[in-house]
Amino acid sequence: MLEEINEFDFENRIVSNEYDSVQDAEVENNLRPKTLDDYVGQEKAKSNLRVYIQSAKIRGEALDHVLLYGPPGLGKTTLSSIIANEMGVNIRTTSGPAIEKQGDLAAILTNLSEGDVLFIDEIHRLSRAVEEILYPAMEDYALDIIIGKGPSARSIRLPIPKFTLIGATTRAGQLTSPLRDRFGVLLKLELYTTEELAAIVKRSAGILEINITDDGAKAIASRSRGTPRIANRLLKRVRDFALVIGNGTITSEIATTALTSLEIDDLGLDNTDRKMLEAIIKYYAGGPVGLDTLAATIGEEPITIEDVYEPYLMQIGFLARTPRGRCATKLAYDHLGIPFSTSPQTKQVPGQEGFEIDN
Ligand code: ADP
Repeated sequence: MLEEINEFDFENRIVSNEYDSVQDAEVENNLRPKTLDDYVGQEKAKSNLRVYIQSAKIRGEALDHVLLYGPPGLGKTTLSSIIANEMGVNIRTTSGPAIEKQGDLAAILTNLSEGDVLFIDEIHRLSRAVEEILYPAMEDYALDIIIGKGPSARSIRLPIPKFTLIGATTRAGQLTSPLRDRFGVLLKLELYTTEELAAIVKRSAGILEINITDDGAKAIASRSRGTPRIANRLLKRVRDFALVIGNGTITSEIATTALTSLEIDDLGLDNTDRKMLEAIIKYYAGGPVGLDTLAATIGEEPITIEDVYEPYLMQIGFLARTPRGRCATKLAYDHLGIPFSTSPQTKQVPGQEGFEIDN
């Protein structure tokens, strides 16, 4: 079984919450809602944002800097374009790893217009040197430039347009505190409910001109791991089945048949989720097992496990983080059809101190 796990190709994972092709990225752009009203769910974040946007407009000033955090595919990029749209300003998009030198960021900042939004995806991956340029830019709308070298070097301050920085990250905890403290608005995006995902599936089906019944949308939504990007991807795959084995309309039966053929079970878990849980249960007696050990066992990066696999498995109560490592819960045993009693070590886990389901 280990070989099977190691051979798993993350890029091809149908329930991955990353893009899998250029074509996917293009379709995704068409599916992005353009206004807050069209943006389904995240009610708390939306209602706060409405107030901040309204207030900035009344004051005639740029919106305060916003940090969006949460797992991939939940709508951070989408929300940043919506904010720019609602503010009536332009958006410039880049990402932490793409800004290599201080000069790259300085060039971007000096080219912004008053009130513009600068969106930096994966902001936790900015280098320290680049981050230092951001501090005065965010706080004083200024760039500190050093001219000359050695004893004759001097610093001059260049004003830049008043802009709004929107940073997105899957891990707010990895941001340095000077950077985190400079964001006035911190918004955490949560996994979506099945009802919200069903609404997103129906909206996307409308845009892609796919016929779908309410039950069909719900069947896809309930297997989308709380993530709109996955819901949209499953919709496209199920559409193929509807065209070939049905009359083109996605019904609950077609969705169930299609998703079963894709080896996605009724909770949205795919082979890798199941193998990861099985590895914890079979090789580590249900846990606790350290993140690095688990990652090595299934041939994944620890960061991928933390960002991509764990949030949903923890949300549905299949995986627990304890101070000593990851544990599979009784629910996971039940789902996999493995008797819970096979693992005396973990039997007590749910009652132990330090057991936590949330992330
Ligand atoms: P992130 O930046 O968090 O990785 P994206 O903003 O790229 O996620 O969203 C991924 C896809 O999910 C987009 O195509 C978008 O259409 C869809 N999506 C995300 N959030 C919502 C939402 N609240 N309502 C409708 N569609 C959404």
